[in-house]
Amino acid sequence: MENIAVIGAGTMGNGIAHTFAQFGYQVQLIDISQASLDKGIATITTNLNRMVAKEKISDTDKAQILSNIETFTDLKKGLEKASLVVEAATENIDLKLKIFKDMDTFCPKDTILATNTSSISITKIASVTTRPDKVIGMHFMNPVPIMKLVEVIRGYSTSDTVTNFVMEMSKKLGKTPVEVNDYPGFIANRILMPMLNEAIYSLYEGVAGVYEIDTVMKLGMAHPMGPLQLADFIGLDVCLSILNVLHDGFGNPKYAPCPLLVNMVTAGKLGVKSGEGFYDYAESRKAEKIASQFSS
Ligand code: NAD
Repeated sequence: MENIAVIGAGTMGNGIAHTFAQFGYQVQLIDISQASLDKGIATITTNLNRMVAKEKISDTDKAQILSNIETFTDLKKGLEKASLVVEAATENIDLKLKIFKDMDTFCPKDTILATNTSSISITKIASVTTRPDKVIGMHFMNPVPIMKLVEVIRGYSTSDTVTNFVMEMSKKLGKTPVEVNDYPGFIANRILMPMLNEAIYSLYEGVAGVYEIDTVMKLGMAHPMGPLQLADFIGLDVCLSILNVLHDGFGNPKYAPCPLLVNMVTAGKLGVKSGEGFYDYAESRKAEKIASQFSS
């Protein structure tokens, strides 16, 4: 049975663990925090209960999927038998470089080291390991069990064998993988973030209000969520940090984050997760309603 280690049990990590376990892999889910692991397993259980209620899986399937996941706070123990690791820890470059150095030390020499990073250079991450040919981006979308896309990002030195393996593995998870090269923002965020930034600029310049901007994009472009609502859902701090990566990486002023976005993040208005962004989520019910639009 193939062992897959997932590092980080947060929003993305628990979804990635859920998906691999659902498709029969043995998953070692690793986090520095026992509380995050407990919360991650609770979230997976809730999502599996929803699938049982919709008759997509049986109670027996649910029990089997949960039994496919082991949890660890000890990185070394969690990694020792992995053939593939998907790192989904907090988006912070120094943290990821440290984790990849440790992964390189603790994993068997043939283990493929993947990262779910939204914006950090795969080539940079690979450079701190002794196996840059086996380092790759495996960028799942949120919520992972539902969203079909996996952006597979080749670093400068990623081998064809490793790329093909990760493309095939993604298909085995019922996903549609797309291969892209390692440049700032890859494809998903290079295209999405300037659109969200432009929506924020339109608000900042008084072209239209929040409701109007989101309604134009929902009803006019058939987007399931307006760009301001989507920015709230992603997290305004996350949007700002990805825009900074694009701006720094390309040196092109077109990626400069809107001053309103910068101000909102400085003021702690981060969207759904902080209770307020372009919308007010003070009542938790409202936040749940937004999140549920993405889960079928
Ligand atoms: P999150 O904050 O929900 O979870 C991060 C988890 O990492 C936490 O549980 C934290 O305890 C854990 N962690 C921190 N340091 C660790 C360490 N040294 N070892 C093990 N675990 C550690 O973050 P998230 O939203 O799940 O994002 C994870 C990654 O996925 C980031 O790289 C992010 O850019 C990327 N991503 C996020 C989304 C999204 O919509 N949230 C979408 C695509 C990609």
